[in-house]
Amino acid sequence: MRRKLVVGNWKMYGRLARNQTLLQGILDGVGQLRNADYAVCVPYPYLAQAQSMLQGSNVAWGAQNLSPHEEGAFTGAVAPGMLADFACRYVIIGHSERRGLFHESNEIAAAKFAAAQKAGLTPIFCVGETLSERESGVTEQVVAIQLDAVLSRFGAAALSRAVIAYEPVWAIGTGKTASPEQAQAVHAFIRRRIAQQDSQVAQGLCILYGGSVKPANAVELFAMPDIDGGLIGGASLVADEFVAICRAAQ
Ligand code: PEP
Repeated sequence: MRRKLVVGNWKMYGRLARNQTLLQGILDGVGQLRNADYAVCVPYPYLAQAQSMLQGSNVAWGAQNLSPHEEGAFTGAVAPGMLADFACRYVIIGHSERRGLFHESNEIAAAKFAAAQKAGLTPIFCVGETLSERESGVTEQVVAIQLDAVLSRFGAAALSRAVIAYEPVWAIGTGKTASPEQAQAVHAFIRRRIAQQDSQVAQGLCILYGGSVKPANAVELFAMPDIDGGLIGGASLVADEFVAICRAAQ
């Protein structure tokens, strides 16, 4: 039986005072829950704040990106070991905003995946199709190519220390959620594809759904057999909403 996981992606939102209220609200709301796992992926400058407020609790923390390099002359970049210094458990990789706005290719996402694992971090590897790809009927092909960037380079075994997030691009920040059935179909496809290499890894793999998850739709989504929780953007910035979603994963 896989444990459910709910991860907040704060994107480029936050201020010290606001974060303090949000993190305290999350701790108050989920601190006693034991049947699922929770985390927040915060902007780099707030990792120390997240660490100091969350350490010892049942809420883990992480980052939203990292450099594939260990160190060097890469102005503005953040090395995997730096995230490890702040005891990050997770790092989001290949988010559609990174792929789209920052032109990150499958190759770059794969290099970041390997760098994260080397530093002891758990990658949350994002895949998902655009609206035009869905409408053209190529969702599975697109997701397969994104997944294979990792699967064909590092093998299924690498996924035993990773999380996959299926995030249809058309559902991110748009208020349009994939129906539970639409999401389930892609999650099952992802699990089947990995099972072709290693059925044990596939069965144990945590596959999150992301894309306008709200308290009103979380229960239905999380009830699907291959949906193991959520990657939550907008709703993770509102303590009551994030807590309600976390409770839906119980
Ligand atoms: C995300 O940023 O990963 C995301 C799913 O955002 P939202 O929940 O706002 O759609």
